[in-house]
Order: sequence, then structure tokens, then C-alpha cells
Amino acid sequence: MTAAFLVGSLAGLGLFLLGLALHPPRPRLARRLAAFDAARRGANGHWTGGHEAPAAGPRWRLGSWLARLCAEQGWEFSSLRKNLSLAEVPFEIFLATKVLLAVLGFVLGPTLGLLAAQQTTFDFHSNFWVNLHHFLYEQALSKSPEQSDSEAWNQAVDVYRTDITKHELLSRDIAGINIALSKIENTESLQGSGLDAELTQTLERAAPVYKARWWPQHNRQNLSWIDAATPLVAKYEAVMKKDLAAAYQTPWPSTPIRTDVAEYASWAGAYTLDEPTLITISSKEPGAQTVVETLFHEASHALIQKISDALTAELDSQKKLFQRRAFWHAVLFYTAGEVAERHLDHYTMFGVRDGILERGWPGALPILKKDWQPYLDGKIDLATAVHRLVDDYGVVR
Ligand SMILES: [Zn+2]
Repeated sequence: MTAAFLVGSLAGLGLFLLGLALHPPRPRLARRLAAFDAARRGANGHWTGGHEAPAAGPRWRLGSWLARLCAEQGWEFSSLRKNLSLAEVPFEIFLATKVLLAVLGFVLGPTLGLLAAQQTTFDFHSNFWVNLHHFLYEQALSKSPEQSDSEAWNQAVDVYRTDITKHELLSRDIAGINIALSKIENTESLQGSGLDAELTQTLERAAPVYKARWWPQHNRQNLSWIDAATPLVAKYEAVMKKDLAAAYQTPWPSTPIRTDVAEYASWAGAYTLDEPTLITISSKEPGAQTVVETLFHEASHALIQKISDALTAELDSQKKLFQRRAFWHAVLFYTAGEVAERHLDHYTMFGVRDGILERGWPGALPILKKDWQPYLDGKIDLATAVHRLVDDYGVVR
């Protein structure tokens, strides 16, 4: 939001100055008549003695002020004045135009830079309530939570410890809380959020404590994460979206994907809910290349259905199960990672780099390389690839 506003104002200012600098002041009718009159008198032998300056308007005032400034410094520019006078350009207008063009240059450069750094794939937010919810969740799980004198805060952490953290952030009940809070944005109250009365009260009582003590730092961290991620996404979004949509045989969502940036976002650092797609991502890791893979991995959750259905159908027809549950997620890890490797510089997918694939689906990586990579390379079709994956990673039921 801030960046968009800044870009808008700078672009507006730049265009305004450009207009002002390039557009000659239009002589008023009275002045045109006077000039006509003067020319006629000239023809009668009464020469009026030269061009009348457009002594009005902001450009003239700026020019006069600059001319005065020059004069005070003792700068005369007499030959320049003579040349300008031959061309019938007033010295003041000349000065103002030069200065405005210089200012325009200063404004337009950064504006274009900012425009190039915008992205349209993710709709980033740093939302107070979403952050409070996830921070409480993190504190409730922590072996060394932050100490507080506030009874309201300690009570809230207790509620999260005994109730909320019994469920994963991805579970239906807890996901419902996140979805409701994400919609509330940064208002003072949770009335009308649809959350139950007890949780509403817990969060509203904890809110002032969070706002005073942790939120300023968390919000700063979120905003600087967004600032770092935005140009990276802008750089790679077109190719990443094209290749991933092709791999999943599913069109990319037509609107930006809502993405809440929070201090904590599950043990994995990010997770995604569907219908509508809602990404929550942690701002703890600043914007390195991994952020690109993480974001597009999360977005892939909204596009994987066709692949996951094809895997299930093939399992059924071969009467098999995969050696490990949720193998479609291994395929997603590999696909998003491989597409990231195609475009990022000297990059290794985090599924391999951090050993996630091997821990979650032992033995799957060589099979993905053998059976799935040819599909990603366009050498075999989806049905063939899915058939081979079930052949190689499936076990008889
Ligand atoms: Zn995932």
C-alpha cells in the first residue's frame, strides 16, 4: 500500500512538473490583442520596443525568484541573456524550465525504479490480529515464552496453551480463526468477526499488551520483509507463474493471492489454506531467493488439485498406496523447487537443500528425478508420469 501510494504521488508530481516545464504559457487574449496592436503601430512607424514577457504564472514566479537569487550571488549571464532575448525567450522562463527539468529527472528515475519493483502475484498484508493470533500460538508452544506482568496476556497464552495449540494451524477450527482475523484487518475491535465470544474477549484483552510491547517490532519486521520480497517476486513472477501453471495444467488465479506476513507462521515458516487461498508466511527469514520458492510453493497449493486427483486415481487403478502419506506434497515440493531452480541463480530447491523431501518421503527424490522430471521437461505426458510414480513409489494395499 505505502509503496503504491508513493509511486502514485511521485508519478503524479513528475507528470505535473513535466507538463509545467514543457508547456509554454498561453498568452491571454488581451495580450494577443496588445501584441497585434503593437505590430500595427510598428507598421505606422511607432515601434513599441520589443517583446512583452509573460510576467505571470508559477513558472514566471519561480524564474524571477531564481533570477534574483543569481543576481544576489553576482551571477549576471549577460551573453546568455542576449541570446535568449534574440530568441524572445525571457531569462526567467529559461531558468525555471531548466530547474524544473532537473527536478523532473530526479523524480522520474526513482519513480520508474519503484514501478519496476511492483508485483501483482501476492497481496501482502501486515495484519495486527493475524500477528497477535500467531504470536500467542508461538508463545503457547514455546519452552521459554516471553515473561509478562500482564494478567490479560498470561491468560491469553494459557488459553492458547490448553486449547488452541492442541490443534495444528492447518486444522479446520484454527484455520477458521485465521481466516476471520485476516478479514478483520487492523480495526480496534473484533466485534462482527464471527469468532466465539470467549476467544474474542481473550484476544481483545491481550491486544493492548501486544500493541505496546511486541507489535511495533513485528510490524516493522513484516514491512521490511515485504519490501525485500516485492522486487524479487516482481523479477521472477512472470516465468514462475507460466511454468507452474503449465506443470499443474491449471490456470494461475486471476487475482493476487492474499498473503498475511506474520512474525510466526507454523513450524514450517509458511502455510496455505484454500477456498479462498490464504497464505500466511513468517517474516523471520528476510528476502533471499528462498522467499521466491517459498511463496510459489505456497501458491502451488492452490493449483495442485489436478495432479493430486490424477495420483489418487492411478493408485486406485493399480490398487496401491504410496509408501508415505500425502505424496502429492512431495510432487509439489519438487515441482515448485525445480521451477525455482530453472530461473534463480545458482539455486538449490529447499526440499533437497534442507533435507525435507528425504525426511518426509524417504527414497522419493531419485524417483521424482526419474519419473517426474521428464514430465516437467515436456518429454512425457501427465498420465505416463503419474503411472510411473505409482509404479515406483506405490506399494500394494
Ligand atoms: Zn506445501
